[in-house]
Amino acid sequence: MNDLVVAIDGPAGSGKSTTGRALAKRLGLKTLDTGASYRAITAAVLNAGIDPYDQEAVGALAAAASLDLDSGAVVNNIDVTEQLRSEEVNQSVSAIAANAAVREILVRWQREWVKKHGGGIVEGRDIGTVVFPEASLKLYLTADLEERGARRPEEGAQSVERRDLLDSNRHVSPLRKADDALTIDTTSRSVEDIVTQALATLEARGVIGSVAPPRRGSAFEPDLHKSVFYRFCRSLIYSFLWLLFRPSLSGPGEVPLEGAVVIAPVHRSAVDFGFSIFLTKRKIFFMAKDQIWKHRALGKLLIILGAFPVHRESADRSALEHAEAVLRAGGVLVMFPEGTRQSGNRVMEIMEGATFLAARTGATVIPMGIAGSEAAWPRGQKLPRPHRVFLYASEAITPPTRTAKGRVSRSALRVMTEQLRGALEQSLKDAASIARATK
Ligand code: C5P
Repeated sequence: MNDLVVAIDGPAGSGKSTTGRALAKRLGLKTLDTGASYRAITAAVLNAGIDPYDQEAVGALAAAASLDLDSGAVVNNIDVTEQLRSEEVNQSVSAIAANAAVREILVRWQREWVKKHGGGIVEGRDIGTVVFPEASLKLYLTADLEERGARRPEEGAQSVERRDLLDSNRHVSPLRKADDALTIDTTSRSVEDIVTQALATLEARGVIGSVAPPRRGSAFEPDLHKSVFYRFCRSLIYSFLWLLFRPSLSGPGEVPLEGAVVIAPVHRSAVDFGFSIFLTKRKIFFMAKDQIWKHRALGKLLIILGAFPVHRESADRSALEHAEAVLRAGGVLVMFPEGTRQSGNRVMEIMEGATFLAARTGATVIPMGIAGSEAAWPRGQKLPRPHRVFLYASEAITPPTRTAKGRVSRSALRVMTEQLRGALEQSLKDAASIARATK
């Protein structure tokens, strides 16, 4: 098996989903909650009025069922998401899961899901023992019964204990720790702590690369130092933007005092990249159209201000190399994921450049919504006009971890890009609602 698979097994409420989600984020993978597959079939059985203990009828339903867990749970085109955690399903799911025919069908479905998604974090009861005995890493989570009951308040400790007993003592694929699984008691450990241990184990096994890759040589050596002239220009631009737009900044996103960061703003007007200076006092690097360098003096000035040329019409490798060099040197880069100026409050397709660079260099990405700049400098107008602008910096997105060869898989990159697109759209909405509330 080549895909990265992490198997997480353990009883109900042991922290599988929380750990799985956090680990998935770091590895750029999707999670598969196999419990939901057993629950979905259980809901369909109950809806069809079939006795959960009628092995044959249940097996026949499972054999003919189409199952989709990518958003919610859909069985035979009927959405059963709402039912998954119901009392009735809690009561019957262990009986359905003890049915050998159902298990055979769902195990096959789970393996196909992982193949389709290029790996994944898979959680359940028999993942390390039966479904993926070759998983890159197997975790077996436990926690005190009291704690597990508290984590499932809607179900209660009694029902959790009953299911554990049934799941551990059934004939087929009982809940059991794989011999080579790492046992972790989650009762009093933080998620970060567990994720760090899991990543360290993957790294030690050579499954993923170290978080800080060796530097690659680059001809472009960005100067992170802020010269007196830079500071002077920066304060001029700052004052100009402040007087004209009175920008107000909110949101949890923060540029750290050092280290590689990509600031990724939405692009609604020509002044947008300037607003990044309200996020950090550090020197900011950015791409500018290469036509500007036709004017030598202007080109020189731009370089002092942190710009480097990009040729708009083609996929410009040298501009990407410059950007990468900035991040490898631990600098701050502004990059518009939308590429060119857009309009309105949606963020549709975005380019992969920002996530690609972040993934290659380990830089974090801070999505930034800007409301009001489109009205401040509408398309077709020669000059901007005074208009309040609202900035919203979202929580930083961390890049997925690289493989042993130092690469990030295509699927991990796609996941991160989609994550950035969603965060960018949300930050734009948040900025707009703050703008509305301030009026
Ligand atoms: O994880 P969750 O509590 O949602 O699982 C519901 C039930 O599904 C379990 O109690 C167990 O009976 C069954 N299950 C299983 N094998 C898995 C995952 C879940 O038998 N891999």
